[in-house]
Amino acid sequence: MSAFAREVKKKFDSAKESKDLFSYDTTEVEKESGAPALGEKDSVKQDKKEDEEKPNPFLNPNPALVVKELDNHVILLNKFAVSPHHLLIVTKEFKKQTEPILPDELYEAFKTIKDFGSSQPTLAFYNCGPNSGASQGHKHIQVLPLNRDYEFQPPLKQLFDEIYDRQIGQIYAINKLPFVHVIIGLDNNMIRAAKDRESLTSYLAQMFFGILDAMFQQLRENSLPLDTSYNFLMTQDFMMLVPRSKETATIEHKGKKFEFSINSLGFAGAMLCKTEEELEALQAQENLMDMLTQVGVPWSPDSEKYDAERQLAETAELV
Ligand code: AMP
Repeated sequence: MSAFAREVKKKFDSAKESKDLFSYDTTEVEKESGAPALGEKDSVKQDKKEDEEKPNPFLNPNPALVVKELDNHVILLNKFAVSPHHLLIVTKEFKKQTEPILPDELYEAFKTIKDFGSSQPTLAFYNCGPNSGASQGHKHIQVLPLNRDYEFQPPLKQLFDEIYDRQIGQIYAINKLPFVHVIIGLDNNMIRAAKDRESLTSYLAQMFFGILDAMFQQLRENSLPLDTSYNFLMTQDFMMLVPRSKETATIEHKGKKFEFSINSLGFAGAMLCKTEEELEALQAQENLMDMLTQVGVPWSPDSEKYDAERQLAETAELV
């Protein structure tokens, strides 16, 4: 365990003990297609609602939850921890969740991933815009250490790794995914070689704005407004963007309808069930990808790239 991971654990345990944080007793259930579903026994939703009636919880965060103060951000523990050690990187001053991530935020998120250590798979994500599944309007990027026991790695990573002759710095869309997205591999040699904060920030920004451009291109090809909400996912190895058409996916089970609010974690293969009944409905679904396609944007059949192995654009070389 890295020094940072130990620090987070210590803070988490003490906030849990003092009841400044609620850790939920969850069960993880794996489903075909490598997409685990999180089953949750307690009612997070109710607690969240009560909390959201209060003014902005990120403006003057509870010190019991503060892990680290950065220049312009604070790293906070998620008060409602469905998964332990879930962190939020919130802006010190109010900024909107509809704004894109800025270069220094990419740096802080990537550094936090790195600080958990290379043996700990960790995901950073950002739910941007009203259909992205975000519940707080104050800008926050999230960092989540993934559960190693369940190999809870974004399944997309596996598909990405399968791309034949994959090139670093090239933007791709994966054929097997039925919804619009863009993904790029990060160059670990480049990252290691980045000697200071500025060069790492500029590399990450270059990769991010490269896929953001490619996503806008996809939005244009699929006749979608350019202010469409999206989810951003980043690990040590890749960055990905998925535009969103709506917040919730609906499924039917035994004649009853169930609505699932989906955020970036859905695209990392995790869906949250609040009741046993929801879990049962989810498990009965043949293909969880259909739910992701409902909340994402299906590829336009007119798109030239529909059948091809989609290699979208090449980003410029690093300065
Ligand atoms: P999202 O729902 O993706 O916008 O993420 C916001 C997260 O903030 C949720 O996972 C909440 O559990 C968490 N949250 C809500 N209120 C607080 C609070 N007062 N302190 C820390 N985290 C909070």
